[in-house]
Amino acid sequence: MQEFDYDLFVIGAGSGGVRAARIAAQHGAKVAIAEEYRVGGTCVIRGCVPKKLLTYAAHYSEDFEDAAGYGWTVGAISFDWPTLIANKDREIDRLNGIYITNLEKSGVEIFHSRATLRDRHSVFLVKEERHVTAKKILIATGGSPNFDPTIDGIEHTISSNEAFHLEKLPKSIIIAGGGYIALEFACIFNGLGVETCVIYRGERVLRGFDEDVRELVQKSMIDRGIVVDCGDVFTNIEKTEDGLVGHTRNGREFKAEQIMFAIGRSANTDGLGLAKLGIELNAKGAIKVDAHSRTSIDNIFAVGDVTDRVNLTPVAIREGHAFADTEFGGKDITVDHSNIATAVFTTPEIGTVGLTEAEAREAFASVDVYKSSFRPMKSILPGRDDRMLMKLIVDADTDRVVGCHIVGPTSGEMAQLVGIAIRMNATKADFDATMAVHPTAAEELVTMREPTSRHRRDG
Ligand code: FAD
Ligand code: NDP
Repeated sequence: MQEFDYDLFVIGAGSGGVRAARIAAQHGAKVAIAEEYRVGGTCVIRGCVPKKLLTYAAHYSEDFEDAAGYGWTVGAISFDWPTLIANKDREIDRLNGIYITNLEKSGVEIFHSRATLRDRHSVFLVKEERHVTAKKILIATGGSPNFDPTIDGIEHTISSNEAFHLEKLPKSIIIAGGGYIALEFACIFNGLGVETCVIYRGERVLRGFDEDVRELVQKSMIDRGIVVDCGDVFTNIEKTEDGLVGHTRNGREFKAEQIMFAIGRSANTDGLGLAKLGIELNAKGAIKVDAHSRTSIDNIFAVGDVTDRVNLTPVAIREGHAFADTEFGGKDITVDHSNIATAVFTTPEIGTVGLTEAEAREAFASVDVYKSSFRPMKSILPGRDDRMLMKLIVDADTDRVVGCHIVGPTSGEMAQLVGIAIRMNATKADFDATMAVHPTAAEELVTMREPTSRHRRDG
């Protein structure tokens, strides 16, 4: 008789959980997965995918404007939000179906229910009101948007979750926060013609990114008509007949039809039953794991956003895959969290990998910076006054390229490819020896000959 119902039980069918479940099943394990909302998780249902679709929609307004420079006459244009949302939802339903089919094809049993831990080998399925047992358990419950409960009237505001399902496009929106989600949504709403304001507590948006990137993106957003208000935060939100009024710490009032909070996300650990099992959390409430994603209980593992390592979809997928290969495939695989390329789908887009200039100057005694700023070719005929930025950071002692930062169209695509070179420890000489692809923006990466600045630590 089997000792447990399953070899592996996965809680959460998002990026990390689905990958781990499928790979473990392919290795021959008997696997079940529980999902309390929709299979696919944040990325597919209310994250990366719908966000990118809305970003495409937002870009059309500039494309219509720019078409005139290329000889096109565009008739009267109009935009219909319900059509976009319905089309987006149809695509999300399709992807949700594919995720379910792929799990089923791999032989994974799906429970459409919330699951919590009862003990180190058993899980409670809330909807079915029963327990199942498993030899190993993987927690892949992701994260949720933060709200500041000290703000009076916070219940009148929305997060990215609701932004994907607004019944109508607001005339105006204020977004609190200055990170990935705040800025991507600010650019989406601005592109769709919404009066948009960002209110951010720091001095300049996108803390942690290279300073030149932060400066250019903030300026470009302001040039596109987004109000970027730094150094302030909301203290209370009032609902009036004309919409919402946000009052700030600096005594100001901001009025808008919608106010959205995008002030970070927290690990979904509440009510999971972690404390009674002694599963340790870090100071931010995320599950502590070792390099093999093992928690403080040796048969319970955690991957993805719930561990708050690098909160990106490809990272959750890699962690899930490595876990399944190691625990069920007889391999020993850990995930390298360094040099992860990332894109921010603002307008203009950001693509970045490796160290910022400030981080490199902290880490290395000799740093050379190569920087090029120019008008993208496509902007010239329409007369659009846009700048593109390419920046390479080089450890001058070894000639290794340790960082690359790009702002402008398709920079996310470029960061993916430069990421391979940086991971392979490519030197600046390797970049220089690579023939350019002409005419492209990316060719700047292999044609910047002289450093724009050299930094040498004294002594
Ligand atoms: P999730 O995908 O969040 O999956 C967790 C699942 O667990 C959810 O489906 C949840 O319903 C379920 N769950 C939670 N608790 C329970 C329970 N007790 N029982 C059963 N089920 C439960 N990353 C990128 O790389 N690129 C992007 O462009 C990008 N854009 C984003 C845009 C937005 C608006 C957001 C919010 C995130 C974005 N991300 C992006 C981040 C990315 O979505 C996450 O890093 C990724 O989804 C994490 O995967 P995960 O498996 O850890 O968790
Ligand atoms: P981020 O951590 O990127 O940004 C949070 C922002 O909110 C920061 O500007 C932060 O300011 C500010 N903030 C934090 N707490 C408060 C507070 N109490 N009051 C006011 N402002 C506050 O989180 P997001 O929610 O934007 O996104 C979550 C994560 O999801 C990202 O970090 C990323 O990993 C992932 N993601 C990835 C995307 C992509 O790959 N394109 C897109 C969207 C999300 P400060 O900087 O001063 O701390």
